[in-house]
Amino acid sequence: MAGIYIHIPFCKAKCRYCDFTSYPGKIGFAEAYMACVYKEMKLRAPSCKGKVFDTVYFGGGTPSVIDAKWIVGCMNGIRSCFRLAEGAEVTVELNPGTVDREKIDAYRRAGIGRFSVGLQTAVDAQLEELGRVHTVADFVEACKLLKGENFNADVMIGLKGQTFADVEKTVRLIHDQGASHISVYALTPEDGTPLYTDYLNGELPDGDEVADLYARTYALLSSFGYRRYEVSNFALPGRESRHNLNYWRRGEYLGFGVAASSFLFGRRFTNTRDLDEYIKCILTDHYPVVDDEVISEEDAKFEKVMLALRTAEGLSAAEYKREFGSEFDRDFEGAIKKNIRFIEKTEQGRVRIKDEYLYVQNRILVDFLQ
Ligand code: SF4
Repeated sequence: MAGIYIHIPFCKAKCRYCDFTSYPGKIGFAEAYMACVYKEMKLRAPSCKGKVFDTVYFGGGTPSVIDAKWIVGCMNGIRSCFRLAEGAEVTVELNPGTVDREKIDAYRRAGIGRFSVGLQTAVDAQLEELGRVHTVADFVEACKLLKGENFNADVMIGLKGQTFADVEKTVRLIHDQGASHISVYALTPEDGTPLYTDYLNGELPDGDEVADLYARTYALLSSFGYRRYEVSNFALPGRESRHNLNYWRRGEYLGFGVAASSFLFGRRFTNTRDLDEYIKCILTDHYPVVDDEVISEEDAKFEKVMLALRTAEGLSAAEYKREFGSEFDRDFEGAIKKNIRFIEKTEQGRVRIKDEYLYVQNRILVDFLQ
């Protein structure tokens, strides 16, 4: 498998917790930016001859704030530069309040068959507190347009004053609107964001409270039939995100646009986060790459394990041996011994973190890094 990621760095306004690469107030750059993304694809295309891509993901930012014709044009560009598999999964992220019937129809005609809606919470006061520019009613309107479609909605836990009743209301609403996939993320206070001050002031729930919210949310989602397949991702059977599964299986991907990362032929490279610099590089026929590293075998092994152990399916020891020519048990003997009570082996020869410890996998994975 291989995926394509397109970063659309425009938003209506900056959310209080956001440190993603997004530029509110610069939507006027969209036409020039998308022309640069197309040019970047043309620069990369010759090195990908023969490679088949089976997922595409438009993320952001807010891809749905720009005119749908730029997304449609980008899909045409992808098809002209790369081989897209028959039945490829193509996803676009959208925010409530930025879509209408015409936009969704245009996406559908371009071959987009999966949508990811940024809701976060079904409590309007909390949306306002987060600096989101939409309301719960906007989310319901967006869902009307997505009726019968394959779509995800994002939920955030660990918000100021958030109770489990708030999370339950959010999950129930999403389920009632027909989402096939729900992502549950704990709010991370990033240094430099306005929300970080709330964190410093002790206004956010502590780690134990968030862990408790997560555990109860997990139980609720399971009761609705959403299966957890990765620590933050839950899907109805067969509706897992193939694009994200490819990341966790350490598959290859190509990223285009500002701040986008790629992993191809054993190298990982990342574009500049600076919009002006990105455009300048592309216009002067330079790759906008600021980081480029060949992944050593040792790092590759750790990445493989770290990514696989985030998932419910875990790591296939046989696949590990095929890829690296060595035994997982031997390479990570010390870490496995130390964490033996948190790990289990399945009859299919997979190694995974026990269900009840998956949420705290970071604490376990530290030992595998050493
Ligand atoms: S919509 Fe998303 S990318 Fe845009 S500012 Fe909010 S959190 Fe950041």
